[in-house]
Amino acid sequence: MRRYGLVGYPVKHSLSPAMHNAAFKDLGIDAEYELFEVKPQDLGEFFAAFKERLAGANVTIPHKEASIEYLDEVKEAAGSIGAVNTVISENGRLIGDNTDVSGFLEALKNDLGFKADGKKAVVLGAGGAARAVTFGLHAQNIKSVFLIDLDARKAASLAIDLAKAGCDAAAIKYDKDAVDGLILNADLLVNATPCGMKEGDPELVDARSMHKGLAVFDLIYNPAKTALIREAEKRGCRAANGLGMLLYQGAKAFELWTGKRPNSNVMKEALIKALRSI
Ligand code: NAP
Repeated sequence: MRRYGLVGYPVKHSLSPAMHNAAFKDLGIDAEYELFEVKPQDLGEFFAAFKERLAGANVTIPHKEASIEYLDEVKEAAGSIGAVNTVISENGRLIGDNTDVSGFLEALKNDLGFKADGKKAVVLGAGGAARAVTFGLHAQNIKSVFLIDLDARKAASLAIDLAKAGCDAAAIKYDKDAVDGLILNADLLVNATPCGMKEGDPELVDARSMHKGLAVFDLIYNPAKTALIREAEKRGCRAANGLGMLLYQGAKAFELWTGKRPNSNVMKEALIKALRSI
């Protein structure tokens, strides 16, 4: 039996095993996907045993950047954003890739019907997920990206990396009034912060700034409708949550590991079932 898994800290509540194990079963592949809760100080040990134990893995918080040093090769999608979310073990070599980028772009197209070419985006959050989102938008010829994070240095650092890649990017420290002004002039708003996961989280934007022409993508998928999505829908905006991104990044990783395209409906049903049982 081939073994795959997700390495992160913490990973207990991940939906990835449900989605991947359903796809293995559906295709009759003798494989299992498990969770590996690995503390940052133990990451080297985990990778030292990788080739013997695993055929492939996903990588999540807080290891997406730190994993790079343990790999033999890093594909361009992961190298340009400086974060790996998928590792493939091939002929004794560990290869790192990033399927969050293509997962986000596929969800943007399928779930939101949004074409980035020539448009203006405001992205809340400048962590690993925002890196995948913004480099994906740049690859689709977005006109400009405004990054907003509680951590001004993090936002500035991502804006610099994007600018180096030729993207018109600017950054500010999170400030609700400034965010509202920027949204009035934007075509796309992406929430790449964890704000909205918990009941009682602060309101990220003033609902009145969400105009009808604005498309809203919230990377959060639990709850399925965050306050941001509820308000966006009330205002007549197109809105999508992060379930599609989770699904498509997983489907792409599965294909990289097995060479087989999984049935995305099977994976989606497994995700929805797993979400209901949380
Ligand atoms: P991360 O690396 O922790 O980055 C989140 C960033 O958002 C941090 O810089 C944080 O700043 C900032 N932030 C938090 N609250 C904020 C607020 N109210 N206003 C502005 N900035 C704020 O996390 P991540 O890996 O990028 O993930 C971000 C979110 O996306 C999480 O909810 C995660 O579950 C989700 N996600 C979804 C998918 C999917 O497939 N759907 C994939 C990846 C991630 P501080 O560090 O100062 O708090």
